[in-house]
Amino acid sequence: MSLLKYIGRFAPSPSGPLHLGSLVCALASYLDAKKSNGVWLLRIEDLDPPREDARYISTIQRQLDMHGLHWDGEIFHQSNRLAHYQDILEELKQKNLAYDCECHRKRIKEIGGIYDGRCRRKTKFQGDISTRLLIAKNDETKILVTDRVFGDIHQDIYECVGDFILKRRDGFFSYQLASVVDDEQQQITHVVRGNDLLPVTPRQKYLQKCLNYRSLKYAHIPLIVNQNNQKLSKQRQAPAVRNEDANKTIWYALKILNQKPPSYLFGASLNQILSWAVSNWDMSSVPRQNQSVLNGQSLKNFH
Ligand code: GLU
Repeated sequence: MSLLKYIGRFAPSPSGPLHLGSLVCALASYLDAKKSNGVWLLRIEDLDPPREDARYISTIQRQLDMHGLHWDGEIFHQSNRLAHYQDILEELKQKNLAYDCECHRKRIKEIGGIYDGRCRRKTKFQGDISTRLLIAKNDETKILVTDRVFGDIHQDIYECVGDFILKRRDGFFSYQLASVVDDEQQQITHVVRGNDLLPVTPRQKYLQKCLNYRSLKYAHIPLIVNQNNQKLSKQRQAPAVRNEDANKTIWYALKILNQKPPSYLFGASLNQILSWAVSNWDMSSVPRQNQSVLNGQSLKNFH
């Protein structure tokens, strides 16, 4: 059991540089930790090499630094943890909570997206296999997440999700497994992240229960969307935040998070803006609605 009351983390994947949306996430998670005199860790989720580029790891570190978001302690890299994830997988298999599966995504799509358990009792396989968590029908699958922004979210993962992937056919571990295992390993107490991950939080809570892990507090914050209502994402090549504009971007990010930064702070030093932001951080003001970028406007026009 950790002695610290608050351990938060920012967990980017190195699939691109930080854009405004990921910076808003990093800022919210940083401020929430600092407001509670907590620790804020940086975890690089480099689990999916085909979609990543190791060069972005140093780009992201530099962007965080240049925006005044200094993490505590050593950086944690998921790519160093593969043997540990495999051990956890074996543990789940031994408890009959996980099993191998040879079904293709195409078939699962054809049956409506929720896996029907066809490989649950299979012992002989041809070709590549994935590993799934077994979700049996019982009351334990009715999960309640009490989110600090969205309130109570109920999801029955037997009905809505079904047996889900822990290790993919291509041999890579799933984000769900690695994230749950590492939140435990790093003794994370509070998760603040984008609301695109709200729907997967119940399955993460279920996995925590299967592994007898602690439960965490969650806050899911708004995404930034473009004029077509699409999430800014590294995959969609959203523009990187510019280190030269760091103080203005942080001010604007505070506005997006509805923290109402005073206009006299626009263009002030990063230190001034961040110390105001820590003292005034208020999770209850964070909006639920996704926020759109004002296309084509420069940061100068935002105050
Ligand atoms: N690696 C995920 C991302 O870059 C974040 C995962 C998390 O915060 O749980 O979107």
